[in-house]
This record gives sequence, C-alpha cells and structure tokens, in this order.
Amino acid sequence: MQIAFVASECVPFVKTGGLADVVGALPPEIAKLGHDVTVYLPLYAGVRPHLEGEWKYVIRSITIPFQYYNRFVGIVDGGRRNGVQYYFVDCPEMFDRQGLYTTRTGDYPDNAERFALFCRAVLEATKQLGVPQVFHVHDWQTGLLPVYLRTLYYFDPMLQSAGTVLTIHNAGYQGWFPPVTTERLLFPWDVFTMDKVEQFDSFNFLKGGLVFSDMLTTVSRKYAEEIQTPEFGHDLDGVLLKRASDLRGILNGVDYAHWDPATDGNLAAHYGPEKLDGKAACRADLLHAFGLEGIQDTTPVIGIVSRFASQKGFDMVAQIAGQLLERDVAVVALGTGEPFYEAFFRDWAYRHKDRVAAQIRYDDALAHKVEAGADMFLMPSRYEPCGLNQIYSLKYGAVPVVRATGGLDDTIEEWNAKTGTGTGFKFAGYAPEALLAAIDRALKAFRDKKGWRKLMRNGMARNYSWEQPAKEYVEVYEEVARRRS
Ligand code: ADP
Repeated sequence: MQIAFVASECVPFVKTGGLADVVGALPPEIAKLGHDVTVYLPLYAGVRPHLEGEWKYVIRSITIPFQYYNRFVGIVDGGRRNGVQYYFVDCPEMFDRQGLYTTRTGDYPDNAERFALFCRAVLEATKQLGVPQVFHVHDWQTGLLPVYLRTLYYFDPMLQSAGTVLTIHNAGYQGWFPPVTTERLLFPWDVFTMDKVEQFDSFNFLKGGLVFSDMLTTVSRKYAEEIQTPEFGHDLDGVLLKRASDLRGILNGVDYAHWDPATDGNLAAHYGPEKLDGKAACRADLLHAFGLEGIQDTTPVIGIVSRFASQKGFDMVAQIAGQLLERDVAVVALGTGEPFYEAFFRDWAYRHKDRVAAQIRYDDALAHKVEAGADMFLMPSRYEPCGLNQIYSLKYGAVPVVRATGGLDDTIEEWNAKTGTGTGFKFAGYAPEALLAAIDRALKAFRDKKGWRKLMRNGMARNYSWEQPAKEYVEVYEEVARRRS
C-alpha cells in the first residue's frame, strides 16, 4: 500500500512530545512490512540543520490561496531514511521560527493559517509526487487535511479515492480558532456547524478531523474508551461516541534502539535483566548529576521526567510533598513547562537540598540517566493517552508508580508480592492519598531486595516494540482502502 504520514513533528528532525517519537518510529516499521511510506513535515527553523548540503526542491512553488492573498510553498526532498521518503513543506514566513506552536508568551496568532497551509500544501504536493491510498494524519495540526479532502477537494479526480486515518495522540489539544477562520481559510460557511467543525462557537481543527476522517485511532485501548466519556473527552466525547465503530486503540511502541540499558550510550554502565549490577553505577551517576551524592544505598530514588503540564498530575505531588519526605526517599525531577509546576519543583528542591533535586530544562541525555538511575518512576497523570516514559522505565528497571488511566493502565500491572507477578504500582481516582498509598506500597516492596529484583525483571522482560502495533495500523489502512475502493 501507499501511505503518507502528515504530521507536525517527527524524531529526529523536530520534537516537543510523544507525537514526534511515534511519527519517527512507526513509518519505518510500516515500510519494513513492505509498504510504500512517505512522511510530510513542515520545514521549521529547527529542521534546517538536518538537511544536508544543498536543498533539492521537488516542487518549487505551490499556490495556497487565502481570503485576501496567496502564499507560495516549496516541497523539499528530505531524502530516504530507513526505507521511508521524507518531504518538507517550505514556507519560511510560516515555519522558519524557533517554536513549533508557541513562544514563551503564548500560541502563535497565525497557527490556523500555518497548519491549514501545511495540510493543503501536502494535498497539492501528492498530486505531483504520488497520491497515497491512505493519508495518516495526527492530532489537531493535521486534522484539517480530511476536511479539505471531503469539502473543497471533493471533486478532485486525483484525490477522490484517497482515504484518511486520524490518530489522536492527545485530545486535550484541539486547535480552537475564531469563527472567522472559516472565511480566512476559504471554507464555505456550511462547514461551520456543530456536526462539522464548529464547537462552542470555535472553529475546531481536531473536531473537523474526527468528523471527516474515514477511521480514527488513538494510542491505547483504555484511552480509546476514556475519550468517549465526559471526564476524558474534552467536550469531544459526543463526536467520538458517534464514531465509536470507526475508532481503534493501538498502543504505541517504543524505540528500543534508543531506549535499552544494555546499549544506551548515555549511561555510566550497561545492564539488563540477566545482569543488573550496572544499575548501581547508573544510580550513582544520576545522583552525581543532580548533586545528591549523599543519598544512602538503602534510600530509594524516585525519578520524574515530564512536561510540566496540568495533565501530568503534579498538583497531587505538590499536595503530598511534605508527607512524602517523612518517608526515606529521594526525588530527582527533570522537566519544563507551566510556570506553576516549574516553581513548585524549584522550590521543593531548594527547601530540601539533601533529598530533592530538580533540573528545569529539556535534556534527552539526562532523561536516559534518570530512567537508568532511578529505582522508581512516578507518573501520576490526570490523563495519559499512552505515555512513553513508563514503558522506558519498565525496560530500565525503574519501577513505575502510575495513575490507572489511559496507556498507563494498559501497560502497568500491579505488583503482587505473593505470586511474584506484576510490573509496578498503580492507583485509581484522582486523590493525593491514593497516590501516597501507591508510593507506600512501592516503598514497602523496595525493602524486600529479592522481591524487588523479581519486580524489576518482570518489567524488563516486557516487550513494547513497534512490530505488533505496525501490523495493527496496516489492518486499519487496509480497512480504509477497502471502504474507498
Ligand atoms: P507527552 O507526549 O505527553 O509529553 P510522553 O510520555 O508520551 O508524554 O512522551 C514524552 C517524551 O518526551 C518522552 O520521550 C520523554 O523522555 C520526553 N521528555 C519530556 N520532558 C523531557 C525533558 N524535560 N527532558 C528530556 N526529555 C523529556
């Protein structure tokens, strides 16, 4: 089959979150199964260093009309890597910026125009470079592609049989814009109704994608169920419920080429389930990196690597911060994000220098060190579509303590000391006491060295590679192609 991935981020070119990991890893895996895969990305400032030598434009100029003017985009050949062809949509006035979606002071005011232009440019580009059987789009940034395809491009003979799949990586970000966006993007006003793109008087990119795509997927089975409820649907539960028969939950894989303590180049020592010794050296290295050299071997180290967003549940951590330090634990946190949480972690570390340390920045190498050096890994998310860090944690023997939601619930099994089964600790409800109780269960288990090693090994033996999810995606593509033929 011919599949075109259309996404706003992709490892190794540009990343703000888990979406980039998925768009980096899934296309090569689909290509390995014998399919013809292309990835389209915007040419941001951050992508430029990745393009070697002189750029080759495969298309010099495509006209993208807006209400009062036209913009012109080029398509740059990003070359083939791992069996996948990459193309970049070049429009410097839209994408040659440091941020992807926001600056420190808020969202770019022209995001609707930027990502509408991106979607439309990809549709136009494929007419010259090859129309795929399925466009696989991701999150709100590319939610408009299926809308264009089934409205303004409805009668295009080249695009008529192309199908669409939209993957929801996070339903909390939807791309809300004022109603006048309809005119600015040259849509007829009849798309601005509540059965199409309108949502509480906003033009909603994600909703448009949910309504107009042939099939929908999201990144875990549990999250697929959750988003059909008012608690997790972010007001789109009604639309998702209507489309329930077209919605699949496919758990993300992880890239073990980058996340395996047996080969990870960022670590002080290597280790694996058969030989755990190296983890002690990694722990010492981590404590050194965070200035916590005084921590005793018997004191468990809790690691955190996260975007600091309210989604991630750190308000609960703030509420138990005092009680947690009544226990024998140390905490290392790496993250950036909302000022409230950055301030909380900074302040907590400042007041307890000997046991809590925080680094407020994005640092991939340090994220690896945290996974390898921590004894436990904390993810108390309010909601978590899939979550990658808890899966990395399993592999690194950093026992996850998680809230039972979305992918966290799908990937972590509660430890049972009697049977020796399970991979971590999880709690239900959104209550600080429940979080503290789960940490207490973990601390108790940590004191039984033999049991703890078994628990670590259980997690390390789990396999969340991309092989299986890639096959499930191909089934979805085949279903879409069948419906469109
Ligand atoms: P989300 O996509 O909601 O941010 P995920 O757990 O799916 O959450 O993915 C987060 C990814 O971003 C992981 O690969 C994680 O290691 C990485 N990450 C998040 N914050 C940081 C940070 N401050 N430094 C390094 N890596 C980070």
